[in-house]
Amino acid sequence: MNTPLIRSKKLSELNHCHIWLKMESAQTTGSFKERSIGHACKQYAQQGAEKFISSSGGNAGISVAHIGQQLNIPVMIVVPKTTSQTAIEIMRQDHAEVIVHGDSWLEANALALSYVSPKHVYIHPFDDPYLWEGISDIVTEVIAEGVRPDAVVLSVGGGSLLSGMVQGLKINNLDIPIYAIETLGTASLNTAMQKKQHIQLDEVTGIATTLAAKKVCKRAFDLSQQENIIGLTVSDTDALLACFEFLDDHKTLVEPACGAGLSVLYQKKIHFMLSSNVLVIVCGGATTTLQSLLNHAKDLSIVL
Ligand SMILES: *Cc1c(COP(=O)(O)O)cnc(C)c1O
Repeated sequence: MNTPLIRSKKLSELNHCHIWLKMESAQTTGSFKERSIGHACKQYAQQGAEKFISSSGGNAGISVAHIGQQLNIPVMIVVPKTTSQTAIEIMRQDHAEVIVHGDSWLEANALALSYVSPKHVYIHPFDDPYLWEGISDIVTEVIAEGVRPDAVVLSVGGGSLLSGMVQGLKINNLDIPIYAIETLGTASLNTAMQKKQHIQLDEVTGIATTLAAKKVCKRAFDLSQQENIIGLTVSDTDALLACFEFLDDHKTLVEPACGAGLSVLYQKKIHFMLSSNVLVIVCGGATTTLQSLLNHAKDLSIVL
């Protein structure tokens, strides 16, 4: 769905430019995954898919469940025991079959893959060209509203959002920098960029669990070597504080994965040209509650 584009007064004043928020948090499923997963599922449905299989206990799985319900195609999601009850409930509301299996995502994913067949299609959370194609519409929508961005700020997990935005910029002939933000504990892209190698992290840590891909997709790494992509990392505390500030300023609750990107604007970490148009992808998050953010604050000894 086309999402609102809002000029943030507060962030624009802070950064001396125009900060445009693309509110992917307003998608029915609470994140941009509705575009990426939605587009992929529709393509596979046209090709005769009879069932969708996922192993994501987060925003990707939630979107697979939602789109499957819309398309009248059954969905099976295998998630590890660590998955939040909130996520499982959201997926079951959309009539997905949710199987809880294994202590980690690796085990859940292995079981999910064992159910895959030519008609039972596995929907990857970030590594599939259809996903990127679905995301590229964001840029077209922004331009249709009369805003030509001079820079983009977004969060990076497995790199589908980054890959899709690069694609959207190319379609619209925009050659502008993209600031790719990760938390220190999930810096798979930033580390790969420093080493100029498509590395896999030994472990991922911290509160931005949606960004916790140990290795970004190859497309995202390749783009980071060819395009004008600037990597930045932020602390968990900064990401969390940005969630609270954004809630106050824009009345929208987002998860720390999204707060990571927002935090570089609250902290004025980038020097933008005066009065330039900066497009910020407010990626959203479906399962985050105010209580979960308050619990993180307590764990990080942050006094609010
Ligand atoms: C999926 C997701 C991300 C990370 O996107 P990638 O395409 O994996 O890099 C960030 N924020 C939210 C809310 C997400 O759902």
